[in-house]
Amino acid sequence: MKFLADVHLGGMTKYLRALGFDTLYFDKIEDNKIIEIAKSDDRIVLTKDRALCERLKGRCYLVKSKKTIEQIKEIAKKFKLKNDASPFTRCLKDNTLLEHVDKSEVLDRLPLKVKKFYTSFKICPVCKRIYWLGSHYERMKKVLDSIVV
Ligand SMILES: [Zn+2]
Repeated sequence: MKFLADVHLGGMTKYLRALGFDTLYFDKIEDNKIIEIAKSDDRIVLTKDRALCERLKGRCYLVKSKKTIEQIKEIAKKFKLKNDASPFTRCLKDNTLLEHVDKSEVLDRLPLKVKKFYTSFKICPVCKRIYWLGSHYERMKKVLDSIVV
């Protein structure tokens, strides 16, 4: 299942990516372009814009909740995301699939504490951001666990 989140749904986009779902997001995009991508790329558009949703003829879901956490819960329930989730496999920033990287290769870029306490790392091949199972991960995991019940 692939998504395209409309502007104003950037917060929710991060959670969808954290759950491992391919989710496109643009700060600025015209409706026509959204429709074009949704068709060519077979994506479900998540939006709060009813008029846009009608133009997408079923390839769309109208998000009702206002708060980010409520929105992601709503989507998780609607699309039964729990079954297909694969958390922490995708870059939160640009949606790219993460790759494993040896600690030795990124050692000079790690904060001291991370260097000391963590052994398993992933890297985004596009933006080169490094991911590890640290406190940020624990916080995010708690939220994700509460979402996909
Ligand atoms: Zn990235």
